[in-house]
Amino acid sequence: MSLDFEPRLHVAAPAELAGRVIAITGAGSGIGRAVARACAAHGAEVVLLGRTVAKLEKVYDEIVAAGGAAPIISPLDLEKATAREYDALATAIGERYGRLDGLLHNAGLLGDLSPIEHYDVPLWTRVLHVNVTAAFALTQVLLPLLRAAPDASIVFTSSGVGRRGRAYWGAYAVSKFAIEGLNQVLADELAGSTSVRVNAINPGRTRTAMRRAAYPAEPPEASPLPESITAAWLWLLGPASKGVSGRSVDAQAPA
Ligand code: NDP
Repeated sequence: MSLDFEPRLHVAAPAELAGRVIAITGAGSGIGRAVARACAAHGAEVVLLGRTVAKLEKVYDEIVAAGGAAPIISPLDLEKATAREYDALATAIGERYGRLDGLLHNAGLLGDLSPIEHYDVPLWTRVLHVNVTAAFALTQVLLPLLRAAPDASIVFTSSGVGRRGRAYWGAYAVSKFAIEGLNQVLADELAGSTSVRVNAINPGRTRTAMRRAAYPAEPPEASPLPESITAAWLWLLGPASKGVSGRSVDAQAPA
C-alpha cells in the first residue's frame, strides 16, 4: 500500500518536534549527525548515541550553538555493548525524561564488498550484529519508555540493497533485508495494542563516509549532503506521520 504523499517533500514547521525526546544511533557523523541537528532545530531534545565520543561532543556543540536544547551524550559501541550498558542507557533516559518519543536506528557498518563465496565469516558476524542484532536489542530495552510516550516512533534504516539484492553487497545487503523484516514483524506486533509506530527509511545515495567507502571512484558531488535530505526523517519522527506504521519509505526520489 502506498502513502498518498511523499515523505521526502514534507516541510516541518519550526517547532514541529517540540516536546519530543528522540534517541539516534550513529549520531556523530553522516546522516545521523544531520538528522540529530535537524530534529533539534525543530524543537526536539535529542539523545546522541555513538561509539566515538569526540564526534558526539562536536554534534552537541553544533546543536547548542544553533540554539537547540542541550542533548544527552551517551557513548554506545553497538559491536561491544553488553546488557548492562543497554540497561544503563534505558535507566538514564527514564530518569531524565520518563519516556522516549523517537528512536532512530541509524548506525551501520558497511563491511566488505565481496562475493558471498569469499566473504569473511567474522566480518559477516560483525555486520549482522551492528546492523541488526544491536537494533533489536536496543529496541527491546527501550520499548517500555517508548510505550510511555503518547505517540512514539521507531525508525529503522534500510537501503536499496535491502529491498533488492545486488552482487557483492554481502552481509550489508542481508542485514538490510533483515531490518526490513524486523520493521514488519515489530510493526505487526505493536499494531492495535500500543501507539508505538514502527517504520523504515531508505536514505538513498548520500554524501557520507560510508558512501565514499562503497564507491571510492565516484565524485562526492554525485550524492546530496545529508543535511539536504532530512525531510522524511522529520516526518517519520514527528507528529505529521501519526498512525503510520509498517512502512518503508524513501528519503529521496528514485534515481
Ligand atoms: P557513516 O559511515 O557516515 O555513519 C555511520 C555511523 O554509524 C557512524 O556514526 C558510526 O560511528 C556509526 N557506527 C558504526 N559502527 C558502530 C558501532 N559499532 N557502534 C556505534 N555506532 C557505530 O554512514 P552514513 O551516515 O551514510 O550511514 C547511516 C545509515 O544510513 C547506515 O545505516 C547506512 O547503512 C544507511 N545508508 C546510507 C546510505 C548512503 O549513501 N550514505 C545509503 C543507504 C543507507 P563512528 O562515526 O564513530 O564510526
